[in-house]
Amino acid sequence: MIELLFLLLPVAMAYGWFMGRNSIKQNQQIAKQDLSIKYSTGLNYLLSNQQDKAIDSLLDALKVEDDSVEAHFAMANLFRKRGELDRALKVHEHLVRLNHLPTKDKQQAVFELGKDFLSAGLYDRAETMFIKLLKSKDYGLKSLTYLLKIFQSTKDWQQGIDRQKLIVKYNDKRSLHTLANFYCELATTAFEKDQFIEVIELLEQALLLDPNSCRANWLMAKIYENHEQCELAAKCYQAIYHQDNEFFPDVIDPMLACYTRLDALDEFYSFIKKVYDETASSSALICYLSHVENKHGKKKALDFILSALKRRPTIRGFEHFVNMQMTPSNTDVSNTSLDLIKELISEYLKVKHRYSCRTCGFDSSTHYWSCPSCHEWEQLKPVRGLEGE
Ligand SMILES: [Zn+2]
Repeated sequence: MIELLFLLLPVAMAYGWFMGRNSIKQNQQIAKQDLSIKYSTGLNYLLSNQQDKAIDSLLDALKVEDDSVEAHFAMANLFRKRGELDRALKVHEHLVRLNHLPTKDKQQAVFELGKDFLSAGLYDRAETMFIKLLKSKDYGLKSLTYLLKIFQSTKDWQQGIDRQKLIVKYNDKRSLHTLANFYCELATTAFEKDQFIEVIELLEQALLLDPNSCRANWLMAKIYENHEQCELAAKCYQAIYHQDNEFFPDVIDPMLACYTRLDALDEFYSFIKKVYDETASSSALICYLSHVENKHGKKKALDFILSALKRRPTIRGFEHFVNMQMTPSNTDVSNTSLDLIKELISEYLKVKHRYSCRTCGFDSSTHYWSCPSCHEWEQLKPVRGLEGE
């Protein structure tokens, strides 16, 4: 009898294993059913526009399985895009609180939460989130970029400068360019107080971070001029042309004043001629024409502008051409007609914007170092083409 029991033992074990396996399967199935019920309830709420109930239901579903994390990020980002920041915050805060999320997902949740706070204008909270991620491999640089945006909005230039070590370590061109402008902002304040040494030191730092910062050379030229160091100022003006020739038309007038003080107008005009040959800018053309007229007479200057306008017509060039025609030798009748044409052109140019942002296309009659629309630095430059340079 006992032998028979021993014979039945493997059968009992196999039965036990089979039943146990079935029970795990059943548990998994129940969990999946539970998940799918919560999901479909959530989706139903979402479709019937009961978004708060939908969020609760979907967040509940998240407790069950990690696979849905991406879907939650997508849902929260959609809320943020639609301006429903409280809902986006709720989802991201929930994701941050989940202990079982992998580090990468958790960091993404903190990053997105920072963006939510930023969109809501809660700068201090956004700052706290981004600071948490500064050492992250995936989110370090992105967080640093957002931090710089916050410091720019709050005009907290020094805070940005305090992060210089990290910015230099990342060696990201855009962040270096931003930081150079933070130095320029401090230099502008020092310039207003005429603190010569401070201005020069701050601008040297700016140029070290971003050798292409025209703004730094522009300010440096101005402070040198104010302190009777016109030769150094002239070098800064020339440097601006090599840094960014699109910005140069705005430099021509102060540069002329500087070279006049230096009594080096021949050198100035040969530089302007080079600028005109290389860029065909209408400001450079108009400036150079006064030199041609002084040196070789009016006829030569008229020939020069006519051939220039044939090659590259611009409204400003044409306005100058009309101006040159208005001489006392002309009859009163023709002067009246020219007056009318000149007035028409001036009115036309008045409604045209002088500057456009190279990043977002924002147009403006006033120059700003930071674009009022996209907030990029040094992107507002004189308009090119028929109606501009
Ligand atoms: Zn812009």
